[in-house]
Amino acid sequence: MLACVIHGAKDLRIEARETPDLEANEVLVRFGAGGICGSDLHYFNHGGVGDFKLREPMVLGHEVSGEVMKLGTEVQGVKIGDHIAVDPSRPCRACDYCLAGRSNLCSNMRFFGSAALFPHVQGGFSEFFKVAEFQCHVVPKDIDYTVIACAEPLAVTLHAVARVGSLMGAKVLITGSGPIGVLTVAAATLAGASQITVTDLFDEPLAIALQMGATSVVNTASQPEKLEEFQANKGVFDVSFEASGNAKALETCVQSTRPGGSMVQIGILPPGLTSVPINQILAKELGFFGTFRFHQEFAWAVDALVSKRIDVIPILTAKFGFQDALKAFELALDRKKAMKVSLRCD
Ligand SMILES: [Zn+2]
Ligand SMILES: [Zn+2]
Repeated sequence: MLACVIHGAKDLRIEARETPDLEANEVLVRFGAGGICGSDLHYFNHGGVGDFKLREPMVLGHEVSGEVMKLGTEVQGVKIGDHIAVDPSRPCRACDYCLAGRSNLCSNMRFFGSAALFPHVQGGFSEFFKVAEFQCHVVPKDIDYTVIACAEPLAVTLHAVARVGSLMGAKVLITGSGPIGVLTVAAATLAGASQITVTDLFDEPLAIALQMGATSVVNTASQPEKLEEFQANKGVFDVSFEASGNAKALETCVQSTRPGGSMVQIGILPPGLTSVPINQILAKELGFFGTFRFHQEFAWAVDALVSKRIDVIPILTAKFGFQDALKAFELALDRKKAMKVSLRCD
């Protein structure tokens, strides 16, 4: 079978790998579709993401969907032929965090296509891959695989919103109009936000933020003066979500959030220390939340996509076969031309 393997920065190869053997509680999945994520692009560009560095070749991909092909001897909850959304998280389900219902903080997490552990956990951009039964969420067969592969990034944003609590009536700022930023628009809308402003350096992704429900957008490259309006009266937004991974945008969030408001850091910043105006967080009594992956929100995301309460069609830029994965990654790097680029098996 073919797999899309990262060997180092700018060294992505389509190569043959062995089809994996199954444990009793595992399921073999035929790849349906997979979205290229910002973290996949970081591995592609820099050979690492955040503090995780590539130390051996790794199959990329964690936003995947597919069809059940084979069952381990103890699997009962899914059938051969089922179409599934794949939760790329494989927590241990035994540590304190798992038992407390916060499995995204699991001490022994095995997450698809991640170099956090060594040996690395291989990802899902592979013609066949295996998962534990509990990672499978069965979906109706008429839902496109590329749509259902968006359950993972959507779950990230639902978790980010859940971290901060109710957004009913809130004025929200989202910095960064990449896939996570625009899905945060959808998640914040679902949670009751009354106004959602999105910032970015490019007009093209901001146009998609509007399609996803943003009430206003600001290009901070061409309209930097708008940022000053955000700071009126010590900040005009109730809640800010930083979705760009850029330290400058984090500063904007701190400056633009009203006293007593909250901010959520979703974007992964470059490795090492980041300078943050902590005195403003202190003096304005801002709540500052980290958010990392998701827990029960994966099932919520699948439900929202299946019921079509959230429509991700505006973010799906282009679809490529496995053989053209390199082209797909090159396109995904171009923020003017691409939002979410998908691989699919035809
Ligand atoms: Zn992702
Ligand atoms: Zn655990």
